[in-house]
Amino acid sequence: MIVPLRLRPADVGIGMTGQRARDRLIDDLRGSGIADERVLNAIRTVPRHRFVEEALASRAYENNALPIGHGQTISQPWVVAKMTEALLKNAPRRVLEVGTGSGYQAAILAALGLDVFTVERIGDLLRSARKRFRALGLHVRSKHDDGRIGWPEEAPFDAIIVTAAGPALVDALLAQLAPGGVLVAPVGASSGQALLCLRKDAEGDVASEDLGAVSFVPLLSGVVDR
Ligand code: SAH
Repeated sequence: MIVPLRLRPADVGIGMTGQRARDRLIDDLRGSGIADERVLNAIRTVPRHRFVEEALASRAYENNALPIGHGQTISQPWVVAKMTEALLKNAPRRVLEVGTGSGYQAAILAALGLDVFTVERIGDLLRSARKRFRALGLHVRSKHDDGRIGWPEEAPFDAIIVTAAGPALVDALLAQLAPGGVLVAPVGASSGQALLCLRKDAEGDVASEDLGAVSFVPLLSGVVDR
């Protein structure tokens, strides 16, 4: 079930940002192993071209990361799909995202009906993302902060998704994961990381699965106003 979005005619019409371009992307994702119909449906429905600058809109349904300013990127659709699929296995309700960026990943999670909390350290990016959530009629709670401290006031979360890469897992985030919860994060060197999926059992023990090789922008400390 997808939450109803406030869409414009151009979001559902023909052309580079229309339904055909999206169907091609969905076929591509299916071909690369994404099988969860809920995830595919959310990616088909949420207009990714509205999460990038207009000059890049025609490339929004290619299976690639794209620049969003400030040296950051909107993640590749396959990566968004893979991470979302991993989270949904746990049937979560409350989800924390670290690294709002364009807001696309948060929008996918909100469109799937989850309670989304997202944290971004770059003020400009967060302001743009908030405008997109509002324009699409999506309810996402967001905060301008260093996401490595998580969102203690709102913890625990059933799932946590980190969309920037650090050399190691962040203990504060693991601590904010509910028993039975899942955390998905790219972990490793700046040149390339492993996408890890961690499950915390009822006793608080953590098991880790490697979902594959990925390349994310770095998880940095502190906040930037502009
Ligand atoms: N999920 C985003 C991906 C954005 S790229 C999307 O769908 O578009 C990663 C983002 O993480 C960048 O915007 C970067 O500024 C942010 N980031 C990096 N370190 C962070 C931190 N410590 N706290 C919060 N955000 C962080």
